Amino acid sequence: MGEIAEAMSNGLFCACCGVMLDGEEPGYPRYCTRQCEPPGHRDPIKPTKQRTEAQRNKRRERNRRYRARKAARAEAARAVPRAVDDEIDALEEEE
Ligand SMILES: [Zn+2]
Repeated sequence: MGEIAEAMSNGLFCACCGVMLDGEEPGYPRYCTRQCEPPGHRDPIKPTKQRTEAQRNKRRERNRRYRARKAARAEAARAVPRAVDDEIDALEEEE
Protein backbone atom coordinates (compact mmCIF):
# COMPACT_ATOMS: atom_id res chain seq x y z
CA MET A 1 0.00 0.00 0.00
CA GLY A 2 1.28 3.48 -0.83
CA GLU A 3 1.99 5.99 1.87
CA ILE A 4 -0.97 8.18 0.88
CA ALA A 5 -3.34 5.20 0.64
CA GLU A 6 -2.12 4.04 4.04
CA ALA A 7 -2.62 7.51 5.54
CA MET A 8 -6.12 7.56 4.07
CA SER A 9 -7.08 4.16 5.49
CA ASN A 10 -5.57 5.16 8.84
CA GLY A 11 -7.75 8.24 9.05
CA LEU A 12 -5.06 10.91 8.63
CA PHE A 13 -6.67 12.05 5.38
CA CYS A 14 -10.28 11.78 4.21
CA ALA A 15 -10.59 8.23 2.80
CA CYS A 16 -12.69 9.59 -0.09
CA CYS A 17 -11.12 12.83 -1.35
CA GLY A 18 -7.81 12.74 0.53
CA VAL A 19 -8.18 16.10 2.25
CA MET A 20 -6.14 16.57 5.43
CA LEU A 21 -8.25 16.13 8.55
CA ASP A 22 -7.30 17.19 12.09
CA GLY A 23 -3.82 15.66 12.03
CA GLU A 24 -4.86 12.63 14.08
CA GLU A 25 -4.37 9.09 12.79
CA PRO A 26 -6.87 6.93 14.72
CA GLY A 27 -6.17 3.79 12.63
CA TYR A 28 -9.45 3.56 10.72
CA PRO A 29 -10.76 5.37 7.62
CA ARG A 30 -12.37 8.74 8.27
CA TYR A 31 -14.20 11.19 6.03
CA CYS A 32 -14.13 14.99 5.87
CA THR A 33 -17.87 15.45 5.27
CA ARG A 34 -21.09 13.44 5.13
CA GLN A 35 -20.88 13.77 1.34
CA CYS A 36 -17.59 11.84 1.38
CA GLU A 37 -18.92 9.06 3.63
CA PRO A 38 -20.08 5.87 1.92
CA PRO A 39 -23.79 5.13 2.55
CA GLY A 40 -24.38 3.69 5.98
CA HIS A 41 -20.93 4.65 7.19
CA ARG A 42 -20.25 4.77 10.91
CA ASP A 43 -16.99 5.45 12.64
CA PRO A 44 -15.93 2.09 14.09
CA ILE A 45 -14.75 3.68 17.32
CA LYS A 46 -17.26 5.91 19.02
CA PRO A 47 -15.90 8.51 21.40
CA THR A 48 -16.21 7.14 24.90
CA LYS A 49 -18.65 9.09 27.02
CA GLN A 50 -17.60 10.04 30.48
CA ARG A 51 -20.21 8.55 32.79
CA THR A 52 -20.79 9.35 36.41
CA GLU A 53 -20.87 6.58 39.00
CA ALA A 54 -24.67 6.99 39.28
CA GLN A 55 -25.09 6.56 35.50
CA ARG A 56 -22.85 3.48 35.55
CA ASN A 57 -24.89 1.98 38.40
CA LYS A 58 -28.14 2.72 36.55
CA ARG A 59 -26.77 0.98 33.46
CA ARG A 60 -25.56 -1.96 35.52
CA GLU A 61 -29.00 -2.31 37.11
CA ARG A 62 -30.70 -2.13 33.68
CA ASN A 63 -28.35 -4.81 32.32
CA ARG A 64 -29.00 -7.00 35.35
CA ARG A 65 -32.78 -6.72 34.86
CA TYR A 66 -32.37 -7.44 31.15
CA ARG A 67 -30.34 -10.60 31.86
CA ALA A 68 -32.86 -11.70 34.49
CA ARG A 69 -35.77 -11.31 32.03
CA LYS A 70 -33.80 -13.10 29.33
CA ALA A 71 -33.06 -15.99 31.69
CA ALA A 72 -36.74 -16.13 32.69
CA ARG A 73 -37.81 -16.26 29.02
CA ALA A 74 -35.30 -19.02 28.29
CA GLU A 75 -36.57 -20.93 31.33
CA ALA A 76 -40.19 -20.51 30.17
CA ALA A 77 -39.25 -21.71 26.67
CA ARG A 78 -37.65 -24.82 28.18
CA ALA A 79 -40.59 -25.42 30.52
CA VAL A 80 -43.22 -25.62 27.75
CA PRO A 81 -41.84 -28.65 25.88
CA ARG A 82 -41.30 -30.38 29.23
CA ALA A 83 -44.95 -29.83 30.16
CA VAL A 84 -46.02 -31.36 26.82
CA ASP A 85 -43.70 -34.30 27.41
CA ASP A 86 -45.25 -34.84 30.86
CA GLU A 87 -48.72 -34.80 29.30
CA ILE A 88 -47.71 -37.40 26.72
CA ASP A 89 -46.16 -39.54 29.44
CA ALA A 90 -49.40 -39.28 31.44
CA LEU A 91 -51.48 -40.30 28.41
CA GLU A 92 -49.20 -43.24 27.66
CA GLU A 93 -49.48 -44.42 31.26
CA GLU A 94 -53.28 -44.40 31.00
CA GLU A 95 -53.26 -46.76 28.04
ZN1 LIG B 1 -13.53 14.04 1.73
